[in-house]
Amino acid sequence: MRRILIIILTLALFLIAAGCSTLSQPDTNARPLEIYFLDMVGGGSTLIVTPLGESVLIDTGSREPMHRDVDRICRACKDAGVEHIDYLITTHFHTDHFGGILELSKRIPIRRFIDKGVPPPPHEQNTDWFRDLYPLYVQATKGQTQALRAGDDIPLKNDPTGAIPPIRLHCVAAEKLIDGFDGDIDAPVAGFEPKEPDTTDNARSIALVLTYGRFKFFAGGDITSNVEHHLTHPVNRIGKVDLYQVTHHGLDQSNNPLLLEALSPTVCVAMNGPKKGIQPRTFRDLKTLPSVKAIYQIHYNTQYGDEGNTSPEFIANSDDPQEGRYIKAAVHSQKAAFEVSIDSAGPTNTYKIQ
Ligand SMILES: [Zn+2]
Repeated sequence: MRRILIIILTLALFLIAAGCSTLSQPDTNARPLEIYFLDMVGGGSTLIVTPLGESVLIDTGSREPMHRDVDRICRACKDAGVEHIDYLITTHFHTDHFGGILELSKRIPIRRFIDKGVPPPPHEQNTDWFRDLYPLYVQATKGQTQALRAGDDIPLKNDPTGAIPPIRLHCVAAEKLIDGFDGDIDAPVAGFEPKEPDTTDNARSIALVLTYGRFKFFAGGDITSNVEHHLTHPVNRIGKVDLYQVTHHGLDQSNNPLLLEALSPTVCVAMNGPKKGIQPRTFRDLKTLPSVKAIYQIHYNTQYGDEGNTSPEFIANSDDPQEGRYIKAAVHSQKAAFEVSIDSAGPTNTYKIQ
């Protein structure tokens, strides 16, 4: 009798366990979403690795000094266990954002090349740097690029069981913006003085919003003030974010105070160089935002002293361009918090997701 009872109980426990596993329980073993902000010494390159292991690289830094930036991208890929790039997104065609692409394409397989679909405005095409670099871009991509438009999503894989929270990489700006807006002010706000329209490729940068469960990250490339204004006024098309890649290396021609207020970030990461950003107005505006818990910088800023530098423990590299340490954010599906650390072995801080 006792034996039968044990068998029945064991069977019941087995059925309960089996039943539970079919409900989409959170997957506590999922790898975190990882975001690596790489030291391009005032250029741009950000590596994203999703919980399902897909990789997105935003920009490839500069070509010169030869291979420095590509070496750093490859090191970050190695640290992240990334053996190919699923999506390489070039935000815009300036030397500090697409210079490394040909060399990178020789070092690691790149599955899809994404850009905004058109080269920079004619006055920038008519420059030595563009004539030098653009043929390398065409050689790397073999002309096989996909154009991203405002409103599009990068089709990242999601977990069909729902055990891992949904992830979405959404484009809010690229060349022509949402609603056909082309870079000038559309809805002036009292007290805001519009800037002269930006005729460079900066204003045409791809800008991206990444969400993972409740976590939100904004990476706006080098978009400038009037575009930032449009993205957040009269409608905030981005919403509040947990993590903000400080736009345009922290330069004052970007980082419109209205955008910063609308984003209300918790953590800011500036991809500055020793002599490029963060400029004092932007630094002051970030520092005084009530939501901001930490400002991280890729480099110590030699130009502005305390007016352009956060506390030393949040600065990844001194003014020495050779150090090459990255800043890394990790978001775990089961924690209502995310971690930010300096390089692979640096100190880690934890911040609440909003
Ligand atoms: Zn730039």
